Formats: sequence, structure tokens, C-alpha cells
Amino acid sequence: KEQIYAEIRGLPSVTRDGVPISIQLNCGLLIDLPHLKASGAEGIGLYRTEIPFMVRSSYPDVKAQTDLYARILDEAGDKPVVFRTLDVGGDKMLPYIASGEEENPALGWRAIRIGLDHPSLLRQQLRSLLRAAAGRPLSVMFPMIAEVAEFDAAKRLLDLELKRLEQQGLEPPSRLRVGTMIEVPSLLWQLPALLARVDFLSVGSNDLTQYIFASDRGNPRTATRYDPLAPAMLCLLRRLVEACNDAGVPLSICGEMAGRPLDAMALLGIGFRSLSMSPPSVGPVKTMLRSLDVAALRQYMAGLYQKGDHSLRDKLRSFAKDHGV
Ligand code: PEP
Ligand code: MG
Repeated sequence: KEQIYAEIRGLPSVTRDGVPISIQLNCGLLIDLPHLKASGAEGIGLYRTEIPFMVRSSYPDVKAQTDLYARILDEAGDKPVVFRTLDVGGDKMLPYIASGEEENPALGWRAIRIGLDHPSLLRQQLRSLLRAAAGRPLSVMFPMIAEVAEFDAAKRLLDLELKRLEQQGLEPPSRLRVGTMIEVPSLLWQLPALLARVDFLSVGSNDLTQYIFASDRGNPRTATRYDPLAPAMLCLLRRLVEACNDAGVPLSICGEMAGRPLDAMALLGIGFRSLSMSPPSVGPVKTMLRSLDVAALRQYMAGLYQKGDHSLRDKLRSFAKDHGV
């Protein structure tokens, strides 16, 4: 790890025309943590908490969860970690939470839906996170939120746990930030109310693309109908960037596209300044952005959205080639 990151770690994460870009990591296991230091990433933009739950045969209790989250925070040191609450269901079912067969698992009982229907499960996880973060900053992110009312309901559970922590005389986090994934399209039509409530947002483009195009994220037969560089997707992301900038709410993106150099280039062109990706993507994405004139790309892309292309992939590739990206 040291070796593969040695060259890029010391280089500033700044575009050729001087725009600083925050690179964060997507992690899900303790063994991922050494990448944080080795890669020079600024923090963990997505910690997928479900992975430790999936490798066990029963639901981990509060003590086991607290220990695990505290170790993650210990390892991360002064770099921030965004913990996503349990995102199981769909393709990631737990043997000890019976869900029954579903005809459309991607549209089914998953993620925050399970947490809100079984609040004791979600509250145990939130209690564990709050305890683990005693005296240090904590960021909590909810997955699959489809409407502001769901965010409010999840936040209420967090507030209850915070109150309980204080009643027990335990030390609260030094700072608590609460946000949500943007991965269900309905939420995009409640942005003013959402932006007034959250401390940050992160786009889950894997699921968002699937739901926007009604095209299964894992089905090879529909893969050509699942392209995050399609104009519809880029237009909606651009509107989201503008809304977040206007409201002063930090926006990041943690779907796989953020870790693919061409897709990441497009994201910078529409205004993203924070990308969260799996560790092996840091080198290729950093190399890309250091050679990118983002102002030139922005101008190039402005003329493309309304042309009716199936995808802007080829045109973005040409831009990259012509501009030495
Ligand atoms: C996403 O949907 O883009 C995302 C980051 O979440 P996951 O891939 O875990 O569903
Ligand atoms: Mg998702």
C-alpha cells in the first residue's frame, strides 16, 4: 500500500487551473482503514456499516457495535468519518432479519425502511455510534431516504438517543453532523425543505442512476440503459450542485462513478468539489484531476446537455484526449 500510494500521496489534490478537490474514501471494514493514511485521502466519505453485520450470524449488540465504531474512529485519527446507518435489504439481506421473498427487492424493504419499521434496531446502532464518538466529532448519514418526513423520523431517533446519552451522564460527541444519501429521486423534489434540515448530502449515484432510468444496477442486459453520463443524469446532478451551493450545504458523491476517472471528470465539470471513492481509485482520479482545466471543461459541457445524445461519454472522452487529461 505504501508503495502504490507513495507517488501520489504528497501531491496536492488541485486541478490544473487551481481548484482544490477533496478526495475521500469509501470503506466498510477495519482492514480498509490503513488506506486512509497511505493514500492521503482527507477522510472517509462513506463508511458502509452493514458489512460487519453481514459476516456475523446474529445481530451485534450495542457493546460490540460501540467497540467497532470506536476502533474505526481511533484508526481514522483526526480525519473525519461519515458513518452510514445500516443499508441492508435488496441484494444485501441479513440471515437474522427475516424479510421474506420480494418481487422487486431494489424497491422493497431495505435500508432506512427497515430501520424506521424496527426502530429498536436503528436506535441500537445510533446509540453505539454516539457512545463510540464520545468527545470527538461524529457524522451520521441515512441511506435510501425517499422523503423529508423519513429524514425527520430518523433524526428524531437520533435525538432520542442523544438525550438518553446525556441523561446517563455519558459524554456526547464534540460535534454531531447529520446528513442523508441522495439516491431515491423523489427527494430531489423536496430540496428546499431537505436543505434546511441537513448538515451535508452525499449522492449515491449507483442507486440514483438505477431509479432514474428504471434500469437495474446489476443486470448486464440493461447495462447500456444505466449510464451516469447520460444528459438526464448530469442535468439533475448539476441542479443539485447549484441548490446545495445556494444553500451552503456541503455536497459529496460516493457512488462508483466518483472513482472512475472519466465520470469523475464530468462531476468536476458540473461543479462537484468532493468525491468519495474506493481506495484503488484515488491514484487514477487524482492523476486525472491534476491535469484537468475544470473551467474549460465546464464551458465545453454547457453546450452538450440539450443536444439529445444517449450519453456524453464519447464527447467527454474526446475532451479528455484533446486537452491532455
Ligand atoms: C450508491 O447507491 O451509490 C451507494 C454508494 O450505496 P450502495 O452502493 O452501498 O448502495
Ligand atoms: Mg445505495
